[in-house]
Amino acid sequence: MNISFDNTENAFAYKSDKELKSARLLFNTMGFPWFVQLGTRLTPYIMKTGVPMVHGLIRKTIFKQFVGGETLEETASVGNTLGRYGIQVILDYGVEGKEGEENFDRATEEFIRVINYASTQTNIPFISIKVTGLARFELLQILNEAPRLRSGIHDHEEEIAEWDRVRDRMYSICEVAAEKNIGVLIDAEESWIQDPIDRLTMEMMEEFNKEKVIVYNTIQLYRHDRLSFLKLSHKIARQQGFKLGMKLVRGAYMEKERERALDKGMASPIQKDKESTDRDFDESVRYCIENIDDISVIIASHNENSNLFAASLLEEKGISHKHHHVHFSQLFGMSDNITFNLAKEGFNVSKYLPFGPIKDVIPYLMRRAKENSSVSGQTGRELSLIKKELQRRRA
Ligand SMILES: Cc1cc2nc3c(=O)[nH]c(=O)nc-3n(C[C@H](O)[C@H](O)[C@H](O)COP(=O)(O)OP(=O)(O)OC[C@H]3O[C@@H](n4cnc5c(N)ncnc54)[C@H](O)[C@@H]3O)c2cc1C
Repeated sequence: MNISFDNTENAFAYKSDKELKSARLLFNTMGFPWFVQLGTRLTPYIMKTGVPMVHGLIRKTIFKQFVGGETLEETASVGNTLGRYGIQVILDYGVEGKEGEENFDRATEEFIRVINYASTQTNIPFISIKVTGLARFELLQILNEAPRLRSGIHDHEEEIAEWDRVRDRMYSICEVAAEKNIGVLIDAEESWIQDPIDRLTMEMMEEFNKEKVIVYNTIQLYRHDRLSFLKLSHKIARQQGFKLGMKLVRGAYMEKERERALDKGMASPIQKDKESTDRDFDESVRYCIENIDDISVIIASHNENSNLFAASLLEEKGISHKHHHVHFSQLFGMSDNITFNLAKEGFNVSKYLPFGPIKDVIPYLMRRAKENSSVSGQTGRELSLIKKELQRRRA
């Protein structure tokens, strides 16, 4: 294997000089933490006022970098471009924070439309779902907190009926996905609503993952209990006779998690340091690859060491780069150096490609802005790669 994540010619082959310069400006701007802090606080409010200038500015900058388009149709051309470079797509109808039964039903229909569209394309094997797009956040929180509910014994009939509707929505999505052979990746969210999400996902896996893997759960390795949860999930899957689908991520809500734990005087669910997160992430990669017959894994990370570790492990064990139980994935707009170079080496690799109206994808965009603003984070790396490629093209 002769893989290098420094090859910017491969990484940015699909971007014009103009697009690269816009990306350089955006990442430069995100390098100012005070600006990002102010922006992420103010933007959701400004968007509500509907000022057209702000809408336009977001569309041309951060939205263009991280989102495929406002509609499925607009996003299709981005998906096709990626396909030309051997890159697959995880299509994400990225609407967040919309509550109400009508909105949940509408989202279910949209997810099914996305699955139907994905099944007509050669490079869209997965869609992704947030359970908070189908269920009331507070309901999930109640289910998470009430042990009686967790055991299935509950005396609030309305909440039982509400949860049954959530289960029906998820079931109908997974049923179409199974019919069309499209994988459904269920995102991990805040720890205080994650328990019912895990239970629902395990239920769906039991139903749909008998012969092949359709449904995937997500574990966030910034939580100190998730490596053992992975092993427990594997044990249950074996006992119940289904295959496990697992997306591995480090986790996107660290600050929120820590603040809440501090506020409530609880022990934090987050690892004590970054090294512990990295260790558990790589250990999970190893565990999944060592159990490749039972587990289908998606290594969802921008960390070059973790991606190299996974790729080398496959080599070491003589497992094909194209094994259908191992996929790599990065978010659209980030770490093209990893995605495009993995694709060149023949690995299964995808971009997680969200789409949706600008006002609905704002929470997603704000997470990306924060993630890219930390000094030790991704910004420096993205910027240096973009600059390197612009220089190479000038030479
Ligand atoms: C395809 C895809 C799907 C995703 N789906 C989800 C999802 O369902 N749910 C979700 O939450 N996120 C999801 N993410 C986002 C993901 O969690 C972040 O992109 C990720 O945390 C960034 O980490 P990294 O692996 O790229 O590596 P790095 O950049 O090496 O790691 C940064 C991460 O390490 C952790 N970390 C940083 N400092 C510390 C510290 N002091 N102590 C402990 N841990 C620390 C944090 O999680 C931080 O985000 C997804 C990402 C991808 C690519």
